[in-house]
Amino acid sequence: MTDFYAQARELFAYTQAMRRDFHMHPELGFQEIRTAGIVAKELQKIGLEVTTGVGKTGVVALLEGSQPGPTLLLRADMDALPIVEQTGADYASQNKGVMHACGHDGHTAILLTVARMLDSARDQFPGTIKLVFQPAEEGQGGAESMIADGVLDNPKVDVTFGLHLWNEQPVGWLGIAEGSTMAGAEMFTIKVTGKGGHGAMPHTTIDPVLAGAHIVAALQSVVSRNVAPLDSAVVSVTQFHGGDAFNVIPQTVELGGTIRTFRLEVRDIILKRVEEIASKTAESLGCNAEFVNTRLTPAVINDSDTIRIVQSAAKKVLPLLTMDASSPITMGSEDFAYMMEKIPGCFVFVGSANADRGLNYSHHHPKFDVDEQALSYAAALMAQSAIEILNSK
Ligand SMILES: [Zn+2]
Ligand SMILES: [Zn+2]
Repeated sequence: MTDFYAQARELFAYTQAMRRDFHMHPELGFQEIRTAGIVAKELQKIGLEVTTGVGKTGVVALLEGSQPGPTLLLRADMDALPIVEQTGADYASQNKGVMHACGHDGHTAILLTVARMLDSARDQFPGTIKLVFQPAEEGQGGAESMIADGVLDNPKVDVTFGLHLWNEQPVGWLGIAEGSTMAGAEMFTIKVTGKGGHGAMPHTTIDPVLAGAHIVAALQSVVSRNVAPLDSAVVSVTQFHGGDAFNVIPQTVELGGTIRTFRLEVRDIILKRVEEIASKTAESLGCNAEFVNTRLTPAVINDSDTIRIVQSAAKKVLPLLTMDASSPITMGSEDFAYMMEKIPGCFVFVGSANADRGLNYSHHHPKFDVDEQALSYAAALMAQSAIEILNSK
């Protein structure tokens, strides 16, 4: 079998050039026109038939193995974030106000590298590899829009696999965990309505600022008193908007925030309690509260059989790396969960931080950057896993 780590190192100049090019030219979700164009061209260069415009700006290509067999979906996300880059790198963003601050430039370059490696290893696996370059991961519904466009059909996908570069851990670390890996995410708003009036005559008003403040405080009891201590959950109020003048009590205030959970039962309890606390606290202070929740992503739950194959693939191809199988990895979320909810599979993490070189800022930080050695590790892990998953089915 091919030594995929050795091959990934040989292809490193290619991977790095691709990653830096995407990094210099970042595009926001559903605007990945240039990126998708380069991806399509690179895949066509190795002779693959490419479909563009899947889920608006997504790209899909098929790579057939030596004989018929199952279909494995490999996914990379392509979108950047609305952040002004402050890394000062030679390859810093040339698109001011837009930045690859989550590592999706790396993911796209990794999957292009994997496509090259698997193309020259077609005799080593049965079935089909579906290469999926997804738009708009950062909260805009890219995975759902690709699913709506049929990315999981024709041929029907049997297993899914994705990965994330992970700056919360050093390069050389791999997070390959069974079960709950990333949390499901909700986005909520609470609109509190009272009766506005003069700041010096509060008795003539019904103050929604006061009610909103009580609601924020009371919501802290949900995780501490309604969720079982062995379950993990987050309720964060991250927005509190209201009022325009120092001497005017406003008519309304609006709170916003996010809920993170792993289990649906926990999610249901939290949604119920947040709504009750908001409406009853508001009511006790004479106001009225309207709670609206939007589900962003389900939790990422790794399939046990697939994760064991990936763990064994990691030991073979990257024996010197540290493998961490503790779950969950993070309360962060990932829209690949929508694909995994339909077709079981796994999502793994590849450590990419290097503190000595100052490459250890968190995801979404304006100085976020990765140790590019992680790109080769990730490409080797993905290629080896793909071959072993397809041969095990
Ligand atoms: Zn992100
Ligand atoms: Zn991300």
